[in-house]
Amino acid sequence: MTNLQNINTSEQSLGEVKYYSTRVVIKGLNEEGNLWYNLCNTCKSKVFIINGIAKYSKCSKDNPEYSLRYLIKLRVEDISAIAIFTVFDNEVEKLIGMPVTNLEKIKASNIEDYNDIIINISDKKMIFSVNVQDKQYENQTFRSITVQSIKEGSDEVIEIEPKRIKLEEL
Ligand SMILES: [Zn+2]
Repeated sequence: MTNLQNINTSEQSLGEVKYYSTRVVIKGLNEEGNLWYNLCNTCKSKVFIINGIAKYSKCSKDNPEYSLRYLIKLRVEDISAIAIFTVFDNEVEKLIGMPVTNLEKIKASNIEDYNDIIINISDKKMIFSVNVQDKQYENQTFRSITVQSIKEGSDEVIEIEPKRIKLEEL
């Protein structure tokens, strides 16, 4: 296990990818807005819907066929630091417990149920395998941490409750 402080600050050259496992507590989503985007079925790039018309996919078709994919920024922490993890489709589905098309329907039909589902993501302690890469954007270097997988069963409560003495035992 590597703590977040080390993941955030370890020496790394541009283009290099490093892999870590880390045990963290999920604090919530890092931003408001949709937890998904539209992916072009042909070129696998993002599709933007403007006035009901799908545009700007790389293959530059008008109204390309597209499907919904999860994509979220997750705020996590451990005792050493906080960090933002990028989480893609399959791993988000594991966190939320349902496919993106189901969640989209719930958001459209019952916003309270939807909010409950979002709140439920938080305060879980989990083990993530992540890959870490330094990227450049507008002359700034930033560290990008992407979740590769979530360890099965890692949301079990890890803290051990203090043993309670039953009255009968006294
Ligand atoms: Zn396309």
